[in-house]
Formats: sequence, C-alpha cells, structure tokens
Amino acid sequence: MSTAAMQLDRNVAEFVAQRRKMLINGKWVEAVSGKTFPTYNPATGEVLAQVAEGDKADIDLAVKAARAAFEKGPWRRMTPSQRGRLMWKLADLIEQHLEEFAELETLDNGKPLTVARAADVPLAADLFRYMAGWATKIEGNTIPLSVPYTPGARYHAYTVREPIGVVGQIIPWNFPLLMAAWKLGPALATGCTVVLKPAEQTPLSALRLGELIMEAGFPEGVVNIVPGYGETAGAALSAHPDVDKIAFTGSTEVGKLIAQAATGNLKKVTLELGGKSPNVVLKDADLDIAIPGAASAIFFNHGQCCCAGSRLYVEQSIYDKVVEGVASEAKKIKVGPGLNSDTQLGPLVSEEQLKRVTGYIDAGFKEGAKALTGGKKLGDKGYFVEPTVLVDTKHTMTCVQEEIFGPVVAAIPFKDPSELMTHANDTVYGLAAGIWTRDISKAHAVASELRAGTVWINCYNIFDAALPFGGYKQSGWGREMGHEALELYTETKAVCARIG
Ligand code: ADP
Repeated sequence: MSTAAMQLDRNVAEFVAQRRKMLINGKWVEAVSGKTFPTYNPATGEVLAQVAEGDKADIDLAVKAARAAFEKGPWRRMTPSQRGRLMWKLADLIEQHLEEFAELETLDNGKPLTVARAADVPLAADLFRYMAGWATKIEGNTIPLSVPYTPGARYHAYTVREPIGVVGQIIPWNFPLLMAAWKLGPALATGCTVVLKPAEQTPLSALRLGELIMEAGFPEGVVNIVPGYGETAGAALSAHPDVDKIAFTGSTEVGKLIAQAATGNLKKVTLELGGKSPNVVLKDADLDIAIPGAASAIFFNHGQCCCAGSRLYVEQSIYDKVVEGVASEAKKIKVGPGLNSDTQLGPLVSEEQLKRVTGYIDAGFKEGAKALTGGKKLGDKGYFVEPTVLVDTKHTMTCVQEEIFGPVVAAIPFKDPSELMTHANDTVYGLAAGIWTRDISKAHAVASELRAGTVWINCYNIFDAALPFGGYKQSGWGREMGHEALELYTETKAVCARIG
C-alpha cells in the first residue's frame, strides 16, 4: 500500500472537527431528538465527524419548510432566469471550493483525492450549469384540437409544464456530492423544493453544499438537508404524505421498499438502482485500449459504481490474453488511503461493505471460481480489498449474478454472439454495458440487443450532464441527467379554451 500522506485544508479540518447540524428552512439546527451519529474515515476506521441524526420529526419539519417554500415563498415568484442564475452561482461556488469538496469526499468516502478533484467535484459543478440553462426552457406545446362532438367549435389549447412540488431525494454514498447534484439540478431548474437525505456513511459534502446553497442566495426552505439513517429518516421521507415525488439512488432492494412506501399518497417515484453490467470484448477489439478499459470499467471508484463492468465477457480466442492483461493491470494499481497522492484505489466505504465484498469473493471460491489476482482484504487498518479478477466462473454463480459493489470482476468466455446475448441479458439488472470492437456495425448491432440504459462503445464510465442515465428492468425507473430528467420533475397541465 502507498503511504505518503498530506496536510488537510484548514476549512476541511474545521468542518469535520465541529458537530454538523442539519439544514431546515434556511437554518442549521440540531435533530429534534438531540441525537448525533458518527461518520467514519474508511482509510482508518476512525470516527471522522459527528452529525445530527435526523428522524421522522426532522423530516416532518423539513417537509413543512419545503411545502411553504413551494407554495408561498419567493421561489415561486422568481423568474426561470433568476432560478438559473442562482444555480449558476452555486456551480461557481462549488468550483471555488473544489479542493475542500475533494478532501471532504476523500475523507468521508475513501476515494482517491485525485479522482474527487478531477471527476466528482467538476462534474457536480457542470451538472448545475447544464441544468441552469434548462431553467428557461421548460416549455409546453400548442395543441391543435379536432373534438368531433362539437362540430364547428374552435379552441386554443396548450400545455404547460409545472414543477411537481415537494421532492424527497435519497442519496447514496458512492459519489456523495455528484449524486446530490444529479438530483438537485433538475429539481431546482424546474422550480421544485427539496428535502434531501444524504447517505449515513457520507453526509459531509452534502452538508457543505447546503452552506453554499444558502450563500448563493436560494430562498429558505427551497433545499432542506436532513442527514440520518435509511430505515428512519429515509423511510419517513419516502412514506411522507406531503411529499409529491421521491427520487432515490441506491440498492434495488431498498428501491423496492421505497416504491412500496410511496404508495400511501401515490407520490411519483424515480429510482436509479443496482447493476451487474456486461462488458464485452470481441475478438477484433483493439486490446491496447480494451484491456485497460476493462480494468478501469470495474476498478474505477473501487467498483462502487452501480454501472461497474462487473461481468467481463471475452470472445474465446482472446480470452486468456484479455484476462491476463486485466489481471496485470489490477496488480499495477496502487492501493492506499485516498489522501495519498499516488493512490489509485482507496478503501471501500465501510466495514459493512468490506464484509459484503469479501463475502462475495469467498462465495465465489466455494462455488469453484479462482482469483487470477487479488481475492483478499488488504492491511489491518481501514477497509481495503485487493482488486480481484475471478476466472473459472459459471453463469449461475452468485459472484456472476449478484451485484458485489466492489473491485471484483468475473470473467467469462463466449464462443459466438448468440451465446453472448443469451448470457449478457440474463440478469435482473439493465443499467449499463460496454462493447470493445473495431467493427462499427457489430458494435451497434450488439448495442441494440443489449437491454441496458447506457451502452458504451470502446469506452466506459463516461458521464456527462447532457447524457441521460438510468436503468432497464430492476435497475430503475426513469432517467437522471439530460433533458429526460426534467420531465420527471414536472407535471403537464393541459389548458383548453373555447374561442369560437
Ligand atoms: P447500500 O446498501 O449500498 O448502503 P442503500 O440502498 O441501503 O445502499 O442506501 C442508499 C440510500 O438509501 C442511503 O441514503 C440510505 O440511508 C437510504 N436507505 C436505506 N434504507 C432505506 C429505507 N428503508 N428507506 C429509505 N431510504 C433508505
């Protein structure tokens, strides 16, 4: 493991040293219960900060504030252009505090600082800018009517797209700031108000974002941030009768609980859930890009991506070369604390995840899989696990079927396209997929057969604020990012006037 540690930014050191409060109606407040919960540094296993523990009573207050801000506050009367400017200002502030956010993300989540600086924080700022532009473009249509039972009558009919209302947003821990941005962006662009619950493992960057939201000048109550546990604060938010929509990113298992909880008032639901994404290397692929590409598809963010390329399908004739190549890439990866400048793969987010990931690896061994490299926990402090390439896998094995959410890839050879397609789509998930080939026709033919919300060709893990992301099948409902996300934050109102 790598070792050279760095000095923390002063603001970050102060931020984690103080007990963090929650943001309700523009004020930083303690939990009604007075309770706090710890968030841990995954590189050491030590407590990083104490955070106010939101529960049902706090969610109730936050929803009341969001409702009042939606119905009566200045937010409602702002022009779309003013909303867009606030969002743009927020993006500027995020950029001004890039280093601080990157360090908070690394401390709380474990990811390499270099990745947080280059990806998480700039992508979050960019998302707000992209969505800021949409604030002035939420348009309806004019609709020519025929109405057969009122012969001769004339109508002027049009649609308007109105904000859906108070939105509950439940965020995961793998990209804490970025996932908050993906959710807040479309909500704010469309004029909704929000109660956001960050993941209990990683609440800090969302709380810092809350400070910048207030500094940018968003009216009180527009964004409320309530940290807390899923089974308490999260469950209260998803069941709340005065929440109009719930947007969730996390496991498929919890997604189902949220969909059930939402039935009480039939709030709208969008879900971005798990995956077990096939990454396919065809025999005509350029292996100089496919091999490092396949390694990065699984090892990026320590495999803690819902779209991780965790099933590596390789055409038989090049199978050995590709899996050995991916294993050799894995061996080169520098594992260590995220704050170290040379770290490429940090710790998993929590002890629970460490147990879960090593449990899946062991289950794979019991079922007959072998590790070409990796397969074990690393070190005696923090939640580190070796980048792992499993071979001799069978389609029915748990490590091939279930989402591991760690740096573990299962490699599987295939003989021909029909065998590939039988297996590649044979999963309950449908979030993402990758294809590596020099044959452009084959690439698009395979892309059209894959049941997945995103297909990457000769690349992987490419995200952009303009590119919609979300899942087929049990990988979710709806899309995030792009203009598709906006539709899921608006209601369409049809207005019909008789004019003759
Ligand atoms: P993981 O299993 O990887 O921790 P989860 O799906 O449990 O992922 O967590 C994602 C988010 O969902 C977190 O913010 C968590 O607090 C929240 N959550 C967990 N359980 C529930 C629940 N029953 N209702 C609402 N939110 C929940």
